[in-house]
Amino acid sequence: MEAKRFYIRTFGCQMNEYDSRLLTDLLISSGWTPTSRAEEAVLVVFNTCSVRHKAETRVYGHLSGVASLKRLNPEVRVAVVGCMAQRLGEGLLDRFPLIDLVLGTEEIFSLPEILESEDLRERVKLKLSGRDFGELATKLAPFSAEALASFVAITRGCDNFCSYCIVPYLRGPLRCRPHPQILKEVEALVTRGAKQITLIGQNVDSYFDGEIDFPDLLERVCSLPGLQRVRFTTSHPKDFGEKLLEKMANLPQLCEHLHLPLQSGSNQILGRMNRNYTVEEYVQKVEGARERIPGLCITTDLIVGFPGERETDFERTLEAVRKVGFDASFTFRYSPREGTAAASFDDDVPEAVKIGRLNRLIAFQRGISEKRNRELAGTVQEILVEGHSRRQQDRWKGKSRGGKTVLFSADRESLLGKLCRVRITSCTSKTLFGEGVS
Ligand code: SF4
Repeated sequence: MEAKRFYIRTFGCQMNEYDSRLLTDLLISSGWTPTSRAEEAVLVVFNTCSVRHKAETRVYGHLSGVASLKRLNPEVRVAVVGCMAQRLGEGLLDRFPLIDLVLGTEEIFSLPEILESEDLRERVKLKLSGRDFGELATKLAPFSAEALASFVAITRGCDNFCSYCIVPYLRGPLRCRPHPQILKEVEALVTRGAKQITLIGQNVDSYFDGEIDFPDLLERVCSLPGLQRVRFTTSHPKDFGEKLLEKMANLPQLCEHLHLPLQSGSNQILGRMNRNYTVEEYVQKVEGARERIPGLCITTDLIVGFPGERETDFERTLEAVRKVGFDASFTFRYSPREGTAAASFDDDVPEAVKIGRLNRLIAFQRGISEKRNRELAGTVQEILVEGHSRRQQDRWKGKSRGGKTVLFSADRESLLGKLCRVRITSCTSKTLFGEGVS
């Protein structure tokens, strides 16, 4: 009998990518076969994101596309899972009757069971205390794990309630996985060939398991044999502290990269965002980190056009970007998310002003990124090789320890999955170019 095929499309953050990997493994272990072509599938899953309005609009577009598949084959099942499912629930069925199942952020992993039972009467499941994903992740064979680099979730949910953010409402309160579960999952991934693990959570610094905090966990993960690189994301500036810094400075597996969202360079705006730190505290922490960790790359997230942001507030953001000299930043234009505290603020920055500020910020950051990259010219960087450059097949592509994309030429035949030494010769704001060094 031909295996039933499923197709998963993932939107949004690394946590969603991680959930999709687990769901893929779970479906495979239940007898399903993955396909990268929706037309071949009898099960189409959209793992969705609600952090920004745009992410939801993209899912609507894809759902419209699936209607034709369902017309051709009425057996096709469509499941919308994750944050958008959690947020909109029944409303999704009203808008798109073609959807068979809506499973919230903690119900995702009941999908194979529901399909097996063929009981689709209860089409919407949104409980925030669904199946224990941690236990599940430990038991599953990582069939679909990308061999070289994998994510491992250490927490779920968030207690911080930044005023613009919908995550705590959609993913529930902070829950931390017992550390033995995490170690077991990392070991399984390393056995399958993972060279790099990224520990993920909405705020990794708030991890705790009895006496074990996040720096302790990092130390245990780094001690696992065979693992060459460890990364983590996301840190919160209010919690990022000395103990973590000390581990970063002393554990050789921990990469010299810190993603620390600043969000705004204005204390007035940070207060309204409920971020609980000042720009001065932020700058002091990253300067301390740069002193202790040579070659540290620092990246960030920034929002422009938050309610109440005046031109002077925005200029403070530019000033902070200049002062810190971020290697890269992920920049966003504020849009209110229903149900968050900031949604009740007067969204008083006109759209055209938001767009103008965003463009100025992107251009400003581009210049700084290019300058930071130019500083690496002549240095030798360790690169984890991920494959060939898509556009230039004669060049290898990989990531530096700082998380930068590097394209390089080398004589050796297959470097895939290898750690290589590369001398940097030139750059753009986004990419470093170099030559392999033997
Ligand atoms: S720390 Fe703030 S921005 Fe990050 S997930 Fe939690 S509430 Fe959202």
